[in-house]
Amino acid sequence: MYAPPPGEQAGSPRRSAPWRRRPAAYRARARHGEGFREHLRLGRKGLAIGIDIGGTKVAAGVVDAEGRILREARRSTPGNDPRAVERVIVELVAELGQGHRIWSVGIGAAGWMDLDGGTVLFSPHLAWRNEPLRANLQRLLRRPVLLANDADAAAWAEWRFGAGQGEDRLVCITLGTGIGGAMVMDGRVERGRFGVAGEFGHQVIMPGGHRCECGNRGCWEQYASGNALGREARLLASANSPMAQDLLTAVGGHADAITGVVVTELALAGDSASRELLEEVGEWLGLGLANLAAALDPGLFVIGGGLCSAGELLVEPARKAFARNLTGRGFRPVAGIELAALGPKAGLIGAADLSRVSSRVRS
Ligand SMILES: [Zn+2]
Repeated sequence: MYAPPPGEQAGSPRRSAPWRRRPAAYRARARHGEGFREHLRLGRKGLAIGIDIGGTKVAAGVVDAEGRILREARRSTPGNDPRAVERVIVELVAELGQGHRIWSVGIGAAGWMDLDGGTVLFSPHLAWRNEPLRANLQRLLRRPVLLANDADAAAWAEWRFGAGQGEDRLVCITLGTGIGGAMVMDGRVERGRFGVAGEFGHQVIMPGGHRCECGNRGCWEQYASGNALGREARLLASANSPMAQDLLTAVGGHADAITGVVVTELALAGDSASRELLEEVGEWLGLGLANLAAALDPGLFVIGGGLCSAGELLVEPARKAFARNLTGRGFRPVAGIELAALGPKAGLIGAADLSRVSSRVRS
């Protein structure tokens, strides 16, 4: 049983995460897989708003303590001006808050947040550079606000309410135009020492390979993402391969118009060239996951993002390549690879829930 340290009264405001303040015996239990869900019970049970800020749209929703979305709203992302983005957030909270008692607000966006969830260090789609977004928003919204990386938020949602439930060593991979990564370990989002962990998409998997926007060559996301799938399909079509006939017909004969989405749709409809292209991407996916397993040893990988609409056409070849490339194969348990369960709203749900669970410790 937890006893407050001398000078601290039970029920006094908590200023640091409660699970970090437990005595050594509790922490030892937590390391061995028991008791670390305590902080989830300490979170408020009320409603939170989650806001997912993407490059083109801002999606928001009222989320309850079971991860259900009760009400939704969306706007276009208003260009690059940080103040305009703040105004949209305030507008959405006012709109969604009508008739609901909202306890906290969680913001998910691509980019790096500081470890405290208060400052955006860098965001690729928005003009935030060392932006103290939480302080600004708490002043405007008069509620606790948490900032989270969008991949972290989605991983949290999958762990709490989706495909990762019950697995306490979880790695989530989001396959879209690039590759997003996040980890939930022993009940907490693991973000490294500086808050910028999870850039799995930029592990070099093919030295001297395709150029990546990060500046390196041969990054994993150049081989196992939606963009990679589109690029390979365009190359196949440009080579005038008869295999690509259905792909070309689907885009009116313009090879440049082939995207990962087109290939995925055709693969699901049974086109054999598209299935082969997806299989290749799945194999690259499995190879990268084997590298991650060597470093992190998770129990489960959850694969989300737009590309996972291909379902088993993508994941089955990934499982095979994973098993073929796993370090120490044959002498170790093999982590599962499963599709995400919550779809594109995982980020919004996770941001809301993270703000609700952690707001109690900062309020
Ligand atoms: Zn890269």
